Amino acid sequence: MGSRKVTSSEPLDWQGKHVTVAGLGVSGIPAAKVLHARGANVTVVNDGDDARAREQAAELEALGITVRLGDGATLPEGTELVVTAPGWKPDKPLFAAAREAGLEIWGDVELAWRLRGPDAAPWLAITGTNGKTTTTQMLASILKAAGLRTAAVGNIGVSLLDAVLGDEQYDVLAVELSSYQLHWAPSLRAHSAAVLNLAPDHLDWHGSMEAYAADKGRIYEGNRVACVYNVADKATEDLVREADVEEGCRAVGFTLGTPGPSQLGIVEGILVDRAFVEDRHKNAQELAEISDVNPPAPHNIANALAAAALARAFGVPARAVRDGLRDFTPDAHRIAHVADVDAIAYVDDSKATNTHAAEASLAAYESIVWIAGGLAKGATFDELVAKSAKRLRGVVLIGQDRALIREALARHAPEVPVVDLDRTDTGAMLAAVQEASRLAVAGDTVLLAPACASMDMFANYNKRGDAFAEAVRELGS
Ligand code: ADP
Repeated sequence: MGSRKVTSSEPLDWQGKHVTVAGLGVSGIPAAKVLHARGANVTVVNDGDDARAREQAAELEALGITVRLGDGATLPEGTELVVTAPGWKPDKPLFAAAREAGLEIWGDVELAWRLRGPDAAPWLAITGTNGKTTTTQMLASILKAAGLRTAAVGNIGVSLLDAVLGDEQYDVLAVELSSYQLHWAPSLRAHSAAVLNLAPDHLDWHGSMEAYAADKGRIYEGNRVACVYNVADKATEDLVREADVEEGCRAVGFTLGTPGPSQLGIVEGILVDRAFVEDRHKNAQELAEISDVNPPAPHNIANALAAAALARAFGVPARAVRDGLRDFTPDAHRIAHVADVDAIAYVDDSKATNTHAAEASLAAYESIVWIAGGLAKGATFDELVAKSAKRLRGVVLIGQDRALIREALARHAPEVPVVDLDRTDTGAMLAAVQEASRLAVAGDTVLLAPACASMDMFANYNKRGDAFAEAVRELGS
């Protein structure tokens, strides 16, 4: 971990500055409006040219903003700065042209960071392959319990631009950041930040695992107080080591085991802090009980420890950590207990859309009938199945790429009964739940943790989870 001076935000004179905004959409439209209002000469470029894009373009043009539909590849003449939607792939010709011309390229997070006022609230930032939203919401809940004015913002669906430019005054922000957003945020400097875990994801966008990890690692750059990492995931600690941070900034680990000095962890069912205490070599501070974490699944306790570490880095008292965790309810479809029917628990983790998430979910129960399958997005299932095999009472497979999971089961868990539902229609979920109920015995958990995306059968993972819950209700009626 090297040390560097944090650069302060650089107020720009926007008057007449030629800015190209890449992408109409949730970040592009507000960015274009804000920059136009500051006097910039804004051109929005967009690949698509459908009815919706035309409607959005008309709205912007009415304000005096230029919009070019159907051509997101060419850099408009005279561009001095590019502001891009975070999802745009870095290998687009527009960016090559911008780099060639020596221009800066900012994403939505960079824009918000640069436009925030001189007294802006500090950011506690969170990234990782899985658990970002949950941890960010837990953190906001803890900060609120400490009486601080805060909000959970960023990749969570609440625009950072709105948060930094709105009328609401904040003491501190809990900021969820995706790897795409971090890629385009070169000057972001958080108060403290956490990388929860790192598993291969979005590699087609980043180009390689190294590039993905490097983008995640940007979250630590210039941290002032703490870089929070996962002791069980060495890659996150490596990223801390590689970061340039402010003098005095500390590396703080979280672990499900007994914490060492400068770590948060678990001792006899209690979440304890051995980082933000006086004399961390001798002392530990009790924060909360495992039963205060909702749900108390191992990966979620890890999320709670990460949130607690960031809150403690901000000076939050132990009592507020406990109260904030107790107040927190997870978003729907994240290990949601739907019902018990005939002493069998039915749990909806439809949000487990990749193997890393499903693995965490499966590790939370002893004896499981697993409902899995959907769109694999290029994933392989051997590791997941091999690690989870001993917990499986049975498996029900649905969706387009279910054969990949069936083959992995044949290799690593040949004795586990598998029902392969050759269906991708929406009604297949009812059949899946009925099959699962037949395989399960009292005390088991029927777990929807598909390890796949849902779009082959459902509009999104929410609809998939709703269909599961509906099927469980039918079973119980
Ligand atoms: P994200 O915002 O990163 O997608 P969420 O908090 O929405 O994360 O959780 C998504 C899914 O990831 C959950 O349904 C759960 O299956 C899994 N998950 C949550 N936290 C973790 C974790 N710390 N490690 C692994 N998987 C996790």
